[in-house]
Amino acid sequence: MTDRELYERAVEAAANAYAPYSNFHVGAALLLRDGRVVTGANVENASYPLGVCAERAALSRAVAEGVKPGEVEAIGITASPCGGCRQWLLEFRLDRVAFMHEGELLVRTPAELVPDSFEL
Ligand SMILES: [Zn+2]
Repeated sequence: MTDRELYERAVEAAANAYAPYSNFHVGAALLLRDGRVVTGANVENASYPLGVCAERAALSRAVAEGVKPGEVEAIGITASPCGGCRQWLLEFRLDRVAFMHEGELLVRTPAELVPDSFEL
């Protein structure tokens, strides 16, 4: 699966976003190393800080299905990931992060997105 195809799966997932407050629908699609794709969408809440980003929704879903750090090859996202999600992507040791930014599909490594990062 190409990064562009993975991004298209994220676009499809964005249709399921629950975003009544911002109306900013975000989708994410994880490509697992075994070829499976796990999607997520952002889920907002009336208590705003409790909302979950699409990337973390997808990663949480994958973990619930037994996925461990190192088992995710790439992610496609319909928007630039926030700082918190960048830290999550770093921890799960993805190879590539493909996201739409100003009309261009950018592909970065988690380390490029979180330089000089915090790690335990
Ligand atoms: Zn985020």
